[in-house]
Amino acid sequence: MRLPILLLYATALSAQPSYDLLLKGGHVIDPKNKISAPRDVAIRGGLIAEVAPNIAAARARKVVNVAGLYVVPGLIDLHAHVFAGSEGRSLAGGEASIFPDAFALRVGVTTVVDAGSSGRSNFEYFKRTVIDRARTRVFALLNVGAAGMPGDAGEQRLDLMDAKAAAALAMAHPETIVGFKVAHYRGADWTPVERGVEAGTIANLPVMIDFGQFRPERPFQDLVLKKLRPGDIYTHCFYAPVPMLDAAGKLLPYLFEARKRGVLFDVGHGGAAFEFRQAVPAVQQGFPPDTISTDVHSGSLNSGMKDQLNVMSKFLNMGMPLDDVVLRSTWNAARIIRRDQIGHLSSGAIADLAVLRVEKGQFAFVDSYGARMDGTQRLANELTVASGLVVYDLNGRTRESWDKLGKYEGLGEPWWDGTRGGSRSARLPAPPARK
Ligand SMILES: [Zn+2]
Repeated sequence: MRLPILLLYATALSAQPSYDLLLKGGHVIDPKNKISAPRDVAIRGGLIAEVAPNIAAARARKVVNVAGLYVVPGLIDLHAHVFAGSEGRSLAGGEASIFPDAFALRVGVTTVVDAGSSGRSNFEYFKRTVIDRARTRVFALLNVGAAGMPGDAGEQRLDLMDAKAAAALAMAHPETIVGFKVAHYRGADWTPVERGVEAGTIANLPVMIDFGQFRPERPFQDLVLKKLRPGDIYTHCFYAPVPMLDAAGKLLPYLFEARKRGVLFDVGHGGAAFEFRQAVPAVQQGFPPDTISTDVHSGSLNSGMKDQLNVMSKFLNMGMPLDDVVLRSTWNAARIIRRDQIGHLSSGAIADLAVLRVEKGQFAFVDSYGARMDGTQRLANELTVASGLVVYDLNGRTRESWDKLGKYEGLGEPWWDGTRGGSRSARLPAPPARK
């Protein structure tokens, strides 16, 4: 009678939980894999292990009920300013960078890309004081100017924009530097754009352009039709000076030409660079942004921009389907920075996730000009998972009730808990290496 023993053994094996964490009952939106359906998500060893219609609760050590919510890849903010402590205060009116953990994880953002706050003279300091210490995953677009954003006067200094030196530093930090940034230039010449593209060509990386002051000597059309390469990014795409509509309110055809060339259009909302008068007709006439990003800093955070979910909610209320809004806040951004281990929920991907709620009611949103747009939907974040650890939990969904927990002392910390205690950034694996 050997069969029953074998069966017993098999039963014992299957009863052993093989997954660390199971998000059960949610609606998964994973645009890369073209999934928008009820799915359970299982996580093991900090990675996505399985996404399936019904994964048995017994197979996981920790099960979290996320019924009625949307489970999406951890959000990626392609344009942020996180060089907290930097001397530079050039962002428009003297606004400052913010330490990423202070705003990102709580709204489902697990990865931010710092857009040029540092340059080659202060990148190492930025890396040491912020990038290596943050629990949020931070990548950098290195400013082509040596000092990053040291203030307006410093950002006009062409003598500090050295393409070869910027490229060399980027190639020495392939795990962190994902491209270059050019910003805030007021001159009539193309020099900063050309230096940025040159750095990008040497290092084989994209460049993100904030066009600075728009001037007739260097038309915006030339930037996106001639100067930028496929894969380069224009940020602030709904900024008022961008030529967007003809006199009849129709989108200008060159925009589609530029997109066809492979130039990418990023929102980069910020404090001054997003207008409903540009964005609403663009979305309605078939020119959505490639990526939805915040340009978060101490100013935009408290004005019309607010946070990644607020910017995403604006597009939701303009009529963009939620699946599209998620695509432009996850996989599209991951592709631009060439990080194929994040931004999606394939088996083996890094287990970065946000669990979102769509609130229905009367809401309103404000643009950079100060104009309001009414809406009926708003995204809120319930739970954030980074590399398989719960790093934000709005309603204690992962927690036991206080009166069932027994004595508090000696409980230790749950293995899945990334929300308590001091520095635990070491528990997040290093960003994936560039391919
Ligand atoms: Zn910016």
